[in-house]
Amino acid sequence: MADSPLRRQERKIVMNTYKVTLLRGDGIGPEIVAEAVKVLDAAGKKYGFAVEYTDALMGGCAIDATGVPLPQETIDKCLAADAVLLGAVGGWKWDTLPGNLRPEAGLLGIRGALGLFANLRPAKIYGPLKGACPLRPDIIGDSMDIMVVRELTGGIYFGKRGRETVDGVEAAYDTEYYTTKEVERIARIAFESARKRNKKVHNIDKANVLESSRLWRETVLRVAKDYPDVELQHLYVDNAAMQLVRNPKQFDVMLCSNIFGDILSDEASQVAGSIGMLASASLGEGKRGLYEPIHGSAPDIAGQGIANPLATILSVAMMLRYSLDEMDAADAIEKAVEKVLDDGLRTPDIYTEGCRKIGTVEMGDAVVAALA
Ligand code: NAD
Repeated sequence: MADSPLRRQERKIVMNTYKVTLLRGDGIGPEIVAEAVKVLDAAGKKYGFAVEYTDALMGGCAIDATGVPLPQETIDKCLAADAVLLGAVGGWKWDTLPGNLRPEAGLLGIRGALGLFANLRPAKIYGPLKGACPLRPDIIGDSMDIMVVRELTGGIYFGKRGRETVDGVEAAYDTEYYTTKEVERIARIAFESARKRNKKVHNIDKANVLESSRLWRETVLRVAKDYPDVELQHLYVDNAAMQLVRNPKQFDVMLCSNIFGDILSDEASQVAGSIGMLASASLGEGKRGLYEPIHGSAPDIAGQGIANPLATILSVAMMLRYSLDEMDAADAIEKAVEKVLDDGLRTPDIYTEGCRKIGTVEMGDAVVAALA
């Protein structure tokens, strides 16, 4: 039945409006973000919410315009938003700049400024793309759908480090260091995430050797008491690396420290096969998060209209799920992506014979159509 004008008026009044800051970045960044915005707007139309966008500069484009990769104005615009969508930063043009002035310095800076301590990286194989998985079909079975939850602002990457000379021999050290508070908050993210999925957490550590891992495991066990509905298992990191290629189907959520998560999430994404398909979310204490594809700015294909926008579109689905609480819209976008793949539409990076090769804009349009 068609809505009456009064009904439409009421719906308009209660319609949520979200503020999203866009960091389009460099290389293919602007191309893929444009498609993700198109899909987010279509989802809003269908599910009754609106999005207000603010553009901000980060990376090489910010260096060109302001001399620094992360201007304060960008931080302020991100702090004022409900969520941030990032394309990618970097490119050959800026490769010779000193580390702190390179585009990638903006990535660490924005994570710190927004207090984003949790990195969520789903590694999923979509049925029609099984051929892209380097493992045998009998190993991956019907599907693989893993969520790596990585601690992002602690551990050995941030611990005490240095160099010294001992008895005339040069030495260097980095320290794996975690407080119970840091472990507890990332563990909660993993358990909460498992609750929205298949209710299974694998805690990854090296508690047979490292004191920091023993404290990590004790803390995870304590937090687990608040989540009796979630199954918890422990794996040493070396075994986890092996299990990821031996039997990836056993995993739902993998809870990892910064360094273990860095390594295992790359392994998991490689198992999933295609870099143009994988999304990620970085979260902090509140609801605000930063969402981005895991790939870089792909300068080799920038401007050609052939970049795969699906990882960025799937990042928008994560944004709807984790920051905006629009679960139906998130599910619908993921299903629309699956439909497009089922229909045989492919950007060149995921193209196989018998499919139809299309460009970035056409792929965005196809997802919008599937959503409708
Ligand atoms: P990359 O991910 O940009 O590209 C690796 C390969 O994958 C390239 O051949 C590229 O064409 C292809 N590729 C990547 N994304 C694709 C997509 N959506 N569709 C089709 N093909 C895609 O990695 P790189 O070449 O090592 O890095 C390029 C630049 O990106 C560097 O400056 C790097 O520092 C930066 N980078 C940025 C981020 C980020 O912004 N978060 C992450 C990684 C790398």
